[in-house]
Amino acid sequence: MAIDPESPLDKLWQEYGRVFQDFDDLTLARWLAQTLGQLEGRAWRLSHPLLGAYRLAAQIAHDRQIWLKRLVTPPAAYLEAPCCRAPLLPLLTRDVLESGLVCQNCSATAVPFEEISAEIQSIVKLWAEEYAPVHAVAHWEDRQRKSAGDYDRAYDNAAREAERLLAQAGAQIAPRFLEFYPALVWEDQDECLEVRPEDIPL
Ligand SMILES: [Zn+2]
Repeated sequence: MAIDPESPLDKLWQEYGRVFQDFDDLTLARWLAQTLGQLEGRAWRLSHPLLGAYRLAAQIAHDRQIWLKRLVTPPAAYLEAPCCRAPLLPLLTRDVLESGLVCQNCSATAVPFEEISAEIQSIVKLWAEEYAPVHAVAHWEDRQRKSAGDYDRAYDNAAREAERLLAQAGAQIAPRFLEFYPALVWEDQDECLEVRPEDIPL
């Protein structure tokens, strides 16, 4: 999730994040470590306000290289992320086959798909492969839209399928990762199909 300085939503999040800019390094490190403790043991919606706050703080911590300064000890259950050495809090998205699990601190790949435990890899692969053609409907070219006849209907059907698949990710797949990570985040929206978190009840 690269930040686009021109996007109104990203500007708003930058404004939200100013509260953490005012924290000194030690205060920020303590806030992150305490929040990681509270995140432990659950699979979280990306849209959860606590996660939104954590992500803002973590990105500022990444810019300031807080975790490399070893100011606090994070909760012991968290491994070190290979990408940026922050405590590993992975994000599951529909792009998992290409991007793996994404780091909430630096937005890089924290766990490549091939390194996901074999036990869940096959389930995740099936899910992502089922999701890909559904998501692709949002990106159909004119030719494909015309051949579908009623594109609005195809789009609505795809959005409903995406809701079902995202609910499956949140209810069944994300919790499986808790065997391997103390906490995990799953993306509970599909912006291209206009599926919002509130469309995905668990
Ligand atoms: Zn990272």
